[in-house]
Amino acid sequence: MKKYDICIIGGGIIGASIARELAKYNVDLVILEANSRVALETTSGNSGLVHGGFDPTPGRLNASLNQKGKLRYEDWIRDMEFPYLRIDSTVVAFNKEEMKHIYMLYDRGITNGLKPSEMEIIDSKELHRREPNISKEAVGALVCNSSIAVDAPELTKVLFSNAIRNKAELHVNSKVLEIKKINDAFEIKTSKGEIINSKFIINAAGHYADVIAKMAGYPDFNLVTKRGEYRILEKTEAGIVNSVVFMVPTIHGKGVIVSPMLNGHVLVGPTAEDGVPKDETRLVTQKQFDFIGDIGKKLIPSINMNKTCMTLSGSRPIEPIENDFWIKPAKDDNYFINVAGMKSPAIASAPAIADYVIELVEKVEKLNKRKDWNPKEKSILPLS
Ligand SMILES: Cc1cc2nc3c(=O)[nH]c(=O)nc-3n(C[C@H](O)[C@H](O)[C@H](O)COP(=O)(O)OP(=O)(O)OC[C@H]3O[C@@H](n4cnc5c(N)ncnc54)[C@H](O)[C@@H]3O)c2cc1C
Repeated sequence: MKKYDICIIGGGIIGASIARELAKYNVDLVILEANSRVALETTSGNSGLVHGGFDPTPGRLNASLNQKGKLRYEDWIRDMEFPYLRIDSTVVAFNKEEMKHIYMLYDRGITNGLKPSEMEIIDSKELHRREPNISKEAVGALVCNSSIAVDAPELTKVLFSNAIRNKAELHVNSKVLEIKKINDAFEIKTSKGEIINSKFIINAAGHYADVIAKMAGYPDFNLVTKRGEYRILEKTEAGIVNSVVFMVPTIHGKGVIVSPMLNGHVLVGPTAEDGVPKDETRLVTQKQFDFIGDIGKKLIPSINMNKTCMTLSGSRPIEPIENDFWIKPAKDDNYFINVAGMKSPAIASAPAIADYVIELVEKVEKLNKRKDWNPKEKSILPLS
């Protein structure tokens, strides 16, 4: 049985972000991932946008971590090589009622800490100048110039590579099956037959974070699903939009977009379907496939949805009582930290979520910085 200071359960972007930031401290750190590779669950089924931060309800933890996370991405961009693109978000209104929401979102953005220079409200003429293919029925838009598109699975790999460079251990094919607390440390049994001994557990198990917490004897919360499906269009459709074009999120649901992708394709979706089984969070269905076609046509009438070459799906893990990120220690144990309810904007917030978790660890144990921490991660492949 090997002993660690901290064990992170979950190899998605949230586990990876925490691992990258924790590895700067002098701790024996292990990450356990059930799948054979990292980032195969929700981290692979999303829009991959570091949101500007005008949408979350002010006062919520996710609103403040979105804003802090977006700023902290600049450190990651400086220190590590991964694909990203600075791109405008254009939230399109189709009538007077939706225009009221555009003004409301602008005000929310200011309340959430965005600078006035990050947002502007434009009329129909200016909108069609910038986005000539948008429906002629559109009457105006909110444009935010501080969003960043990332490839979440690629970023996850880079974050883990950096954590491993700084002495963290990543165990794949290591599904956690049993957790017991024995003499101030957790004993964790995995599907590989390992027994891991760790003083802290950081539970970043995505849709299964509630299952992991209950396994440890801490049933503080439950998670529900909200699956979103997408269609990806051929590269022949690139250029149909110049920015990430959104429907008004407070009316049509969060994050419905037509968007350029970093790989040159065009992304259309996502839908929002409640209560799907946890083991069907990456399923795509004929019904939603057709509905996504309607979304695309509503925003961009000339879009050719017959050019669909791939589909994609993921589900937001939602804590339904607080409807916010659930980042807190178990009620009865400060050494068991839940990082759950990781719906959007968790990718945008990821570096700030990691900082927040480190603060929770430091409330119970002082952490010392590693003198030889290397924040840099270079890509071997050319990225530009
Ligand atoms: C449709 C959609 C669109 C989105 N768009 C955006 C966006 O544009 N911007 C944004 O900021 N956010 C967005 N999000 C949210 C974002 O995708 C998620 O918040 C994020 O990917 C969650 O990452 P995670 O690491 O918590 O979860 P996951 O990626 O699910 O990782 C959890 C990991 O835990 C592992 N695990 C589970 N059980 C065990 C076990 N017993 N033992 C070991 N390992 C285990 C799993 O295998 C998995 O790899 C979107 C989400 C969806 C669904």
